[in-house]
Amino acid sequence: MDQAPVRRVVIAGGGTAGWIAAAALAKLLGPLLEITLVESDEIGTIGVGESTIPTARTFHQLLGIDEKAFLRETLSTFKLGILFEDWAKQGDRYIHSFGQIGKSTWMGDFHHFWLEAREEGWGGELGDYCFELQAAKAERFAIPEQGHINYAYHLDAGRYARFLRAFAEPQGVTRIEGKIESVEQHPETGFVTALKLASGERLEGDLFIDCTGFRGLLIEQTLHAGYEDWGHWLPTDSALAVQTESVGPAVPYTRATAHEAGWQWRIPLQHRVGNGLVYAKDFLDDDKARALLDSRIEGKTLIEPRLIRFKAGRRKKVWDKNVVALGLASGFVEPLESTSIHLIMIAITRLVQLFPFGGIGDGVAARFNALSHVEIERIRDFIILHYHLNQRNDGGFWDHCRTMEIPDSLAERIAAFRDGAIAWQASDDLFRVDSWVQVMLGQRLEPRNHHHMGRMIVEGELQTALGELKSGIARTVAQMPGHQQFLDRYLAA
Ligand code: FAD
Repeated sequence: MDQAPVRRVVIAGGGTAGWIAAAALAKLLGPLLEITLVESDEIGTIGVGESTIPTARTFHQLLGIDEKAFLRETLSTFKLGILFEDWAKQGDRYIHSFGQIGKSTWMGDFHHFWLEAREEGWGGELGDYCFELQAAKAERFAIPEQGHINYAYHLDAGRYARFLRAFAEPQGVTRIEGKIESVEQHPETGFVTALKLASGERLEGDLFIDCTGFRGLLIEQTLHAGYEDWGHWLPTDSALAVQTESVGPAVPYTRATAHEAGWQWRIPLQHRVGNGLVYAKDFLDDDKARALLDSRIEGKTLIEPRLIRFKAGRRKKVWDKNVVALGLASGFVEPLESTSIHLIMIAITRLVQLFPFGGIGDGVAARFNALSHVEIERIRDFIILHYHLNQRNDGGFWDHCRTMEIPDSLAERIAAFRDGAIAWQASDDLFRVDSWVQVMLGQRLEPRNHHHMGRMIVEGELQTALGELKSGIARTVAQMPGHQQFLDRYLAA
C-alpha cells in the first residue's frame, strides 16, 4: 500500500498492448498524467493478433478514432464472425457470428422457437434468423444508414501499433526506444520505482504498466505475481505464424479450420492474409506441424513461418503493488475466439475508471484483479467448449479434449443446454446467449428438450413470424454489395 499520488505512468513495452494503453490513457486522462512508453526495437513484438471482436469498434469510438483513417492505415477488413470448419466432425461447418439471432422474449430465448419449428419439421437453420451470419455466409457487407450491423475488424498487427503510436504521441506520450535491463524497487514496500535501460537512462514512475508480452518483465520476473496454468484444459501451446499473398477477394470472417492436433487460422487483410497453425506439441511435433501448415497454405508465402510458444493461463494477480499487467503479460487463452485484444481494451478502460490518482491501495488492486479474473475465466470456458464437444475420429488430441475433465462452471452449462436448451449470459460474461447457442449447436450438442413457448402461439402464426424474419434478412443481404466491393468503395469515398 502506497498513498503517494499517481501522476507518472510508465508503460513497459510497445506491442499492441503498450500502444493501446498509451493511446487510451493519453486521450482519456492525458492532462492529469505524464505518460512514457519504452519499447525495444531489438526485441520487437509478437507480430500476431490480427482478428478482433466488436469491442474494437466501441473502443475506437471512445477514443474518437476515425474509422476510415484506421482502415486505410492498418489495411484492415471487416469481420462478422468466425467460420469453424471440421470442428465437431470432419466436414462440418458453422459460423459463430456477432449478430443477434431472431427475437427473444422474457420467457425464453429465440432458439426455443426455432427448436419447436425444427421438431415440427420446418424452420430451416438457426442461422437463417441472424443478419450478420447470413451476410458473412454470402461474403457481403455494408454499414446501413438505418438499422444496425455488429462487426469487428481484421487488422495488421504491426501497422496497428504504429497507427496507435501516431495517435498517442501528439497527445503527449513520450516514447523511448531502449532495452530495459533492470527494475528498481523500493527496499521496504517492493513497489517498482524505476526502470533502468541499457543506455543507462532511468525511468522513474508512480504506476507501471507491464506490456512486455509473455516475459512479464515487471509483473513476473520482478514481482513474481504467479501464473495459473490452464494447459490441462487448453492443451495447445504452439503456433506457426506466416503471411501469404491474398488469393481472392477478402471475406468478412476469420476461418478457423480444425486439424489433427489443433486448428489453423486465416485472417484476410486488404494486402495479404495472416495464417497460422495452432497445435499441441505433445500431439504434433514441430516438423510435422510445419509440413501440415505447408500442405494447407493457400497463396505465396511472404515470410518464413515463425514459431511461437505459449502457455494458456492467467496471472494470479494482474495488478500487484504498483504494476498493472496488460496483454500477454497478464495471461493468455488461445486465440480461437480473438479475445486478447478485447481483454486489453477492457482492462485499460477499467484502469481509467479505477485510476488511483490519490495513491495505490490494496482495495483498488483487489477490485481490478477480481474483475479481470472472472472475465478471463468465462472466456476460458467458452474456448474449452469448442474443443471438448467434439466427435472427431482422428484420435490423440481430440480424444484427449473430449474425455478431459472440464471446469465445473462449463460442465454446468453443457448439462443445462443438453437438458433443456438452456443457455445464459452470466454477469461479466463477454459472450451472449446467441454465442453460446451458436457454438453449442455448431459443436453438435443436441438438447433433449426445449421450452414449449412456441406452442402457446396461435397455430400458423409462429410459421408466419419466422418466415417473415427469415425472408426479410435474406432480402436485405441480397441487396448488399460484396465485402471487398464495399471496402473498396468505402475507402475511396
Ligand atoms: P508483445 O507484442 O510481445 O509486445 C511486447 C513489447 O514489450 C514489445 O514492444 C517489446 O519490444 C517490449 N519489451 C519486452 N521486453 C522488453 C525489454 N526488456 N525492454 C524494452 N522493451 C521490452 N489476439 C487477438 O485479439 N486476436 C488474434 O487473432 C490473436 N491471435 C494470436 C495468435 C497467436 C499465436 C498468439 C500467441 C497470440 C494471438 N493474439 C491474438 C494475442 C495478441 O497477439 C496479443 O494479445 C497482442 O499482440 C498483445 O501483445 P503484447 O503487446 O502483450 O506483447
